Amino acid sequence: MITILKKGTPKEEQDQLVKWLEEQGVEVDVSEGKYQTVLGLVGDTSNIDIDMIRMLSIVDDVKRVSEPYKKANRKFHPDDTVIDLGGGVKIGGGNFVCIAGPCSVESEKQIIGIAKRVKAAGATLLRGGAFKPRTSPYSFQGMKADGIELLLKAKEETGLPIVTEIMNENHLPLFEDVDVIQVGARNMQNFELLKALGKIDKPILLKRGLANTLQELLMSAEYIMAGGNEKVILCERGIRTYETYTRNTLDISAVPALHKLSHLPVVVDPSHATGRSEMVEPMALAAAACGADGIMIEVHNDPAHALSDGAQSLTPDQYDVVMDKIRSVKEALGTGVWQK
Ligand code: PEP
Ligand code: MN
Repeated sequence: MITILKKGTPKEEQDQLVKWLEEQGVEVDVSEGKYQTVLGLVGDTSNIDIDMIRMLSIVDDVKRVSEPYKKANRKFHPDDTVIDLGGGVKIGGGNFVCIAGPCSVESEKQIIGIAKRVKAAGATLLRGGAFKPRTSPYSFQGMKADGIELLLKAKEETGLPIVTEIMNENHLPLFEDVDVIQVGARNMQNFELLKALGKIDKPILLKRGLANTLQELLMSAEYIMAGGNEKVILCERGIRTYETYTRNTLDISAVPALHKLSHLPVVVDPSHATGRSEMVEPMALAAAACGADGIMIEVHNDPAHALSDGAQSLTPDQYDVVMDKIRSVKEALGTGVWQK
């Protein structure tokens, strides 16, 4: 249920109403937006007399929210959420970020070399997998803690905040200095992991599961937010369809749909969505054109010899070209502030 307050409602009266609602056993999420203040009620609202609240002089309207996701719902928070990703870099509400780096961290030379190149191309965050969720147990599983150490070195050298994937909540202490924690597609519904991430104060890049609906993605975001961590970034990375030409099918319509349903920022990952390096550029441009808040691209110094996802990785030279074109699309549309 949401309660929309009348413009100019005195703070004391707002606080009194919040206190009274909390006494009814519900959690109240206050969203003070540009145009209105919305009180979002989470919990069992069945005993709350909606007509009584509607009649209060400070209340403009009261509505039941039928969707099962509440805190992630745009109705709860009409303004876009803006998240600080570290180093003053923001995402959401018109702030646009480019995340780039290898699928896996492989060596100090590799990650620092790529970090320098993607930074020069205009990337705002460095990505790199240290714990890798591989389909085969015989494939490279990542450099683990050593990989995170190398990402931190690359951050020190370049100043780029870092994004890396977590697979197990027991590894959380290793992520202390990581700026953004990624939850991969395969863990989107690892609810215990999501609950643990709900208790920390760090942005979470939540990837859509291979075969999950937008509502399921938003419910996973809700798990994190319900624990108190509202810094969730949604990521469309392609879903499994009957098409086999591409690794996945990029659901580009997820971007405007998620923007309508939710206030959370939306990033597009054209690398995992297509699995083919030659398709990364056109899909990245489509993402920029349809209003994504960020684009995450895999970049490798030597894709042919990458330890994971070489086929979808761009070389730094190719990334330079894509970034110039993304910039042109953003300029042509006049949308968003490019985060540096
Ligand atoms: C990744 O980002 O390298 C990754 C494993 O992505 P996804 O979870 O989308 O497959
Ligand atoms: Mn990858």
